[in-house]
Amino acid sequence: MKFLFSTYFAFIFISSSFPQGTGCHDINRYIPRDNSSNEVIIKVMIHVVKKSETDPQNFTEKDTSQIREQFDLVNRFYRFLEPPTLKADHEVEFIPDTKIRFVIQDYKFYTDSILWDRYFTGAKKDQGYPLDVDSINYKTNEIVFKGNHHALFRKPAQVELYETELNDGRHDIDISYYIKSEKKTIVRLKNKLDPAGKNGKISFTYMNNLNCASDVYNKLTGGDENYLHIIYTGGSENPNSFGCGPSPYYLNVSNFNKINPWVQAQTITHEVGHCLGLAHTFPPQFDDLPRKDGMIWTPCDSIAHSNNFMNYSICKGYLSPKQIAHIHKGYNTNPKLIVTTTACDYDNNETTIVRFNETWDRAYALRGNIVVKKNKALTVSCLVSLPEGAKIILENNATLIVNGTSVTNSCGRTWDGVVYCKKYKNNQTKMKPASKRGKVVLENNGKLENVKG
Ligand SMILES: [Zn+2]
Repeated sequence: MKFLFSTYFAFIFISSSFPQGTGCHDINRYIPRDNSSNEVIIKVMIHVVKKSETDPQNFTEKDTSQIREQFDLVNRFYRFLEPPTLKADHEVEFIPDTKIRFVIQDYKFYTDSILWDRYFTGAKKDQGYPLDVDSINYKTNEIVFKGNHHALFRKPAQVELYETELNDGRHDIDISYYIKSEKKTIVRLKNKLDPAGKNGKISFTYMNNLNCASDVYNKLTGGDENYLHIIYTGGSENPNSFGCGPSPYYLNVSNFNKINPWVQAQTITHEVGHCLGLAHTFPPQFDDLPRKDGMIWTPCDSIAHSNNFMNYSICKGYLSPKQIAHIHKGYNTNPKLIVTTTACDYDNNETTIVRFNETWDRAYALRGNIVVKKNKALTVSCLVSLPEGAKIILENNATLIVNGTSVTNSCGRTWDGVVYCKKYKNNQTKMKPASKRGKVVLENNGKLENVKG
């Protein structure tokens, strides 16, 4: 069985303009090599559009566990990478875990046969169409109208007639041609027209592919940019599984494959890759990818087709270090992306503890407190975002140096500022006041911004 991915990638990351050293943009600093690298956790909102109540042709309210299982699989693919089948032309380190996760926030259900249908044949009804019919020759079964429309009426081979009373509807075309000297197009139909009909209007039919279109996202969410909205729809003329993630805010998944959840999860894995800013592997987006990679639905091999998530192959299992880092960079630096992650929601269990003197030379969007241990120093040289409720806790004689950048809240709210204590405790109400108070040093226009106060 063949599954078609209709994909389109048009989203370009908006480069964020925050004050910090240029090295903060170095993609190599965002490769999640060790356990201390924070996860990017994307907040997913599920929307299911049913065709009708009696014939949903989609998931229903009873299927939330199936949708959750799909995302369990997607998370597994992102957590347990496989080595590349097709290698780059130089040695590339293998990152076993992308540290990218998806967490479903809620499920919403709708019934709308028009929104549901992402793939159907329809008549052209804009940009001057339908056209006025000049005459109909019932002997030859030909319709005549002005202008050269031959190319459009040739393929696919159907016309739609309007306002003819007896001949309205779709008809198969036998042949069409253009008479240059008379500037008119003639379409001959296969089936006999009723001579008692009127002249009316004519248009050609074509395949509407709305898989990448934003109309369903706009209608269901009002263009919301606080989640990645996954929208399950259908298609009346395409039985295959397809999806399109042209934006960090929505992904359309049409004609999901209920029989084979693994295949469906592979499709979503590829499509959310687009949502997160990844392009197809050919041409290669980064220099740690193979120079050539066949983009077809085929088994992976070591000669022509990779197992990269961003290929169409049937064994997606790999992302390169720079593909992964590109996502981490976007979701740690760009406020427009950070708001779609859990980094805007304070989590008391996600404390970052600085046990040695450290310099942070890449941006971080953290979702918990930062604790600098006794006598240690944390130097922040790239943007750090903390959510509402988060603090920087300095133990006795600890130092926070903010050098040429800001500690702020990139979610458009405030964070809770710096506190001093003798020794950090998870239950902060039990912390004793500092006996040898730590200090904050602001260098090169370093700032603590958007502090609650
Ligand atoms: Zn694609």
